[in-house]
Amino acid sequence: MTCMNLNYTKVKESYLFADIRRRIDAWLLEHPGKTILRLGIGDVTQPLTPAVIRAMHQAVEDQAHPESFHGYMPECGDPQLRSAIARWYQKRSIPVAADEVFVSSGASDELGDILHLFDRSLPAMIPEPAYPAYADASIMDGREIIFPDTVQENGFQPVPPEKEITALIYLCSPDNPTGAVCTRECLKQWVEYACRTDSVILFDAAYESFVCEDGIPRSIYEIKDAKRCAVEISSLSKTAGFTGTRCGYTVIPMDLIRDSMSLNAMWVRNRTTRTNGVSYILQKGALAVFSEEGQKEIQELHEVYRRNAQAFMKALDDAGLSYTGGKNSPYIWMKCPQGMDSWGTFDVLLKQAQIAATPGAGFGRSGEGWIRFSMFASDEDIREAGRRIVTLKNENYF
Ligand code: PLP
Repeated sequence: MTCMNLNYTKVKESYLFADIRRRIDAWLLEHPGKTILRLGIGDVTQPLTPAVIRAMHQAVEDQAHPESFHGYMPECGDPQLRSAIARWYQKRSIPVAADEVFVSSGASDELGDILHLFDRSLPAMIPEPAYPAYADASIMDGREIIFPDTVQENGFQPVPPEKEITALIYLCSPDNPTGAVCTRECLKQWVEYACRTDSVILFDAAYESFVCEDGIPRSIYEIKDAKRCAVEISSLSKTAGFTGTRCGYTVIPMDLIRDSMSLNAMWVRNRTTRTNGVSYILQKGALAVFSEEGQKEIQELHEVYRRNAQAFMKALDDAGLSYTGGKNSPYIWMKCPQGMDSWGTFDVLLKQAQIAATPGAGFGRSGEGWIRFSMFASDEDIREAGRRIVTLKNENYF
């Protein structure tokens, strides 16, 4: 007999970011005084906006006085925040009700925790390249994983497999790492597939706020019947700079029923047992994001990253390099030049141009041959990185 969850032995060590750090540190040791333009990590660089900060200061003050003090918050979220999020969907003609919204501590927690609702025999379907947490959480949970191919020829749009399988389907749009966005037609195919096969889609909308092109869905519920087959997991991390503050939301529609069981009711039961809610102070900050002022401020915040992406894409265009993403995403996914693999490209960028990026191999088999640049950086660093990449091309490294 074993006491432990042996599935943990099947999860690969998380070498990717440790490896990146080790290579950078080793290079810096040999080249003291040099600085690296860090476009590797997907963490935001712009601070919280003024409306959020004011709301959180006020909430701290509330906690200082008996008449305004709050103890435990409702496990599924502050009703005011749940309603504000529902209204924010409704404004875009997406019919989400407040009791379908669950306030969370961020998308990562939810992507793993939600697996608890499903039988372990249900496989996870993960189109790669993908955010590594999907596979790791599924392996820790003891699930088989199916990797349908995503192909660069269609701009990394995930396509449902021919074989009809009942599964938990992870979809991410705009995607990390490819920066690709699922078109309406692409999501329609997945919703139809999921309804046909009784699958459940876990739609990761962590980057939805970066969509700026008309006609690209920001929510899977823009697709007919999605409320019968999809959970939407969102976060304020990238939307509003909450990576270190922690608040997100998950939508579980009332219409989502499997084996005569309501996923919404199960999640209420889960949350009321396994959490005691998100902090009052953070939820007040989150509420400010959904105010008129908050929405205006986050648009300005996104402008910074968008301008970065435009400047960087211009540099890649000037250098004649191929890439996806950037338009509706803070990530630019570049094809490795001259047949190099992703770690080879990483080394050239580091050693010849002092740019740190993330090798595509870290995002699964089909990420090999690609490299990810994050636009969560300063304007100066992005422009300088662009200039250096053009130089790499002119000097025949790329
Ligand atoms: N989903 C994707 C695709 C991400 O890239 C990230 C973070 O980088 C997350 C989820 C996690 O977000 P959170 O900070 O809300 O846990």
